[in-house]
Amino acid sequence: MDLNSPVTILQGLGAKKKKVLEERGIFTLRDLMYFFPKKYEDKRYITSIGNLFIGNKALISGEVIQKQYRVVGRRNSPLILKVEDHTGIIDIVFFQGMYVNKQIEKNKSYTFYGLVTENMGRLQMAHPEFELVGSSQDKRNIVPIYGNINGISQREMRKWQEEIVPLMKQVEEWLPEYLVSENNLCNPSFALKSTHFPEDETHYKQGKYRLIFEELLLLEAGLFFIRNRNLHKENGAKFSKGNLKEFQQLLPFDLTKDQIEALRDIMKDLKSSKPMNRLIQGDVGSGKTAVAQGAMYFAYKSGFQSVMMAPTELLAKQHFQSFKELFKDTKIKIGLLISNMKTKNKKETLECLKSGDINILIGTHAVISQNVKYKNLGLVITDEQHRFGVNQRSQLSEKGRYPNIMVMTATPIPRTLAVVVYGDLDISLIKSMPKGRIPIKTRLYKDEIERMEALNLLEKELKAGHQAYVVAPLIEESEKIDAKSVEVLYEELKKRFSNYKVGLLHGSMSQEDKDEIMESFSKGKINLLVSTVVIEVGIDVPNATVMLIENGERFGLSQLHQLRGRVGRGKKQSYCGIIMHSKNELSLERGKIMVKTQDGFIIAEEDLRLRGPGDFFGTKQHGLPDLALGDLVKHIEILEKTRKIAKDIIKEDPNLEFEENQGLKEQVQRLYGEKIQLKL
Ligand code: ADP
Ligand code: MG
Repeated sequence: MDLNSPVTILQGLGAKKKKVLEERGIFTLRDLMYFFPKKYEDKRYITSIGNLFIGNKALISGEVIQKQYRVVGRRNSPLILKVEDHTGIIDIVFFQGMYVNKQIEKNKSYTFYGLVTENMGRLQMAHPEFELVGSSQDKRNIVPIYGNINGISQREMRKWQEEIVPLMKQVEEWLPEYLVSENNLCNPSFALKSTHFPEDETHYKQGKYRLIFEELLLLEAGLFFIRNRNLHKENGAKFSKGNLKEFQQLLPFDLTKDQIEALRDIMKDLKSSKPMNRLIQGDVGSGKTAVAQGAMYFAYKSGFQSVMMAPTELLAKQHFQSFKELFKDTKIKIGLLISNMKTKNKKETLECLKSGDINILIGTHAVISQNVKYKNLGLVITDEQHRFGVNQRSQLSEKGRYPNIMVMTATPIPRTLAVVVYGDLDISLIKSMPKGRIPIKTRLYKDEIERMEALNLLEKELKAGHQAYVVAPLIEESEKIDAKSVEVLYEELKKRFSNYKVGLLHGSMSQEDKDEIMESFSKGKINLLVSTVVIEVGIDVPNATVMLIENGERFGLSQLHQLRGRVGRGKKQSYCGIIMHSKNELSLERGKIMVKTQDGFIIAEEDLRLRGPGDFFGTKQHGLPDLALGDLVKHIEILEKTRKIAKDIIKEDPNLEFEENQGLKEQVQRLYGEKIQLKL
């Protein structure tokens, strides 16, 4: 048995449980060891019955002096035990009595752990955990409670973790000596043991600190490694030309103050020999696309190719169209590259890229696949950056010898965090909205009658020649909940709005069908589009004035904000209706925030407050490795500390070749694993 042994080596761990663990990413004993308790129960001390506090959880120990069903003779009625110690008596209740009846014998002593309540003036404990006094499981300790894993009991998980304690003890220190002493870290074996089975609070804290420290250090070391790989290459492609006025003349509107500001920042970056590494953060609808177009125009003028990567094919195509339109009177050649295209077209596009006949390429992640060769790529832009992983970004930049990188996102991230996650990026903010925008009227609709009002509003807008979206949440078939699936909704609305053309769009449709629908919608041939969140990101149809969201309670705030951002893009009054099918207080509170503000930053902060950092800033969103204990928001101080350390290490030893960094290297590789394919 060693760290790499499969979990099935443990007793009682068969194929079924193995599968459950695998779904959690637990394959080996090491993985299991890094699956940490969610909380703990303090079972170190017995409280005497006379000293119990109602409302507290407590561990008691006493003799069962009476045992009977509440309704005598009915085995499925609750089982009531009277348990006595030298200070008093308590009633212990098990509602499904017959299961427990066999396990607990009269006149024997047991410990019980549970919530102390009161019933008719008597102390009571319902459904406590229990152990026979003196049995092997009857221990005085702090007991770990693991996150709920379907089909695996706490008892089993605890037993397996206990079994691998000897392995935990074998884990050797792998951090360089100076880091351990400077940061007062306990060694990893102590940390592991104390996190699963802490002896007291101090041990627990020491252990947990060490584990969070190492996890965040590894995260940062990996990020710096990736970044270093990009930055330490030759100098950036140096642009010579970039004329804002000239670009402005191509546009049908005047750039906003912040768009101009961002473009100035970009031009400065591009003209210096240091590669650009810039984040453009601007709320939905603030006009980031125009900024990207400007940057790509500068690239063209200086004789470089540029590429923009969008998170969905839909969005890539939309950008492709708008770029073609914008540059139609210039000599700029624009190409599109997505996975769903005819082989012949793809081949042609690839050849034109290689020969330099295409100046600007728009695409999905297809643009970073191996076989795509550029002639002289000078600028790479990713749109809706939060949808991409760090590694995709870095793969993309590897395509150019001199990468200038620009990433765009509508997700407002507190600056400290942006720096931590995105690294040494410069940031341009686009805060001002294009002129003439009318604030979107947002309203919550809380029952079927109100929902009818929403549909009436929708009808009014359709009558006026405007277009509308109705969005339904994604529903897995197994879920038996009262949420409208997009198909049901489509059928309903097709009938209700039979005078109009109603379209349906969802993720499992074929690419051609999706394209066709989206194109008809942009061209105004479809009046009402019923959709899942596929349209969440980036879609731009200014004639659409209504966004109606079904089951608003099933969306996150930022997502609602993104959805709402699909309307209010033109000069017409737009509406956002959020239909709430749940009276849940939290959902209503979220809904109210949407009504109150349209500021993406405020909404993101509220989202963070309501949902907690884990959900909001899930590492998955960023393609970062999963963190077992570390939390990018809660542990910001440790994060900043480890970030400095990681930066220094990579600066001194960019390929992690020093003897003292070998442990670190091994762990970084493990943490980033195949997901990021970190090649050290
Ligand atoms: P986002 O920042 O969400 O990507 P887009 O780039 O899609 O926003 O822009 C939203 C809409 O605003 C588009 O229809 C675009 O043509 C328009 N737009 C962008 N900049 C301006 C501007 N300065 N003045 C007027 N309209 C603009
Ligand atoms: Mg956009």
